[in-house]
Amino acid sequence: MNYGIDYGSGTTNIDPETGIRYGVIPENAVLQAWADSSEPDYGAPSCPKCGNDALPIGDESLPDIDTAENWEDSGRDFACLDCRYSFDSSEAYGDEPSGFALDDGEYKAYADEYGDIFITKSPYYTFAQYCSRARPARAI
Ligand SMILES: [Zn+2]
Repeated sequence: MNYGIDYGSGTTNIDPETGIRYGVIPENAVLQAWADSSEPDYGAPSCPKCGNDALPIGDESLPDIDTAENWEDSGRDFACLDCRYSFDSSEAYGDEPSGFALDDGEYKAYADEYGDIFITKSPYYTFAQYCSRARPARAI
């Protein structure tokens, strides 16, 4: 059997808890099922001014925006400490999703703009050749 090439040297495309490698299937092989069950993923919230991570309002590490001086307030969902700016969810996420994700309790999967679905959790697995692409950098 041809095992393929392990481009990740055993460190990518693998569940570190189980040691089982992720499955990768083309999106067009399961198109309707994937469209029915996946959700758009807009990534982590970020500051619209500087791009830093947005902190949710209510986070204890944030100063009280009502009493803080020189804060610009255009919403109360998130804040950026560097810009001293608070804003709502519509500013914290991009207009287009960065990919699509599935987490139904049994399966976890993620698809990016290249059309590959990475199955990161599944009750089933099989023996197959290594995948040649690295999973997109993203926390699921
Ligand atoms: Zn900022």
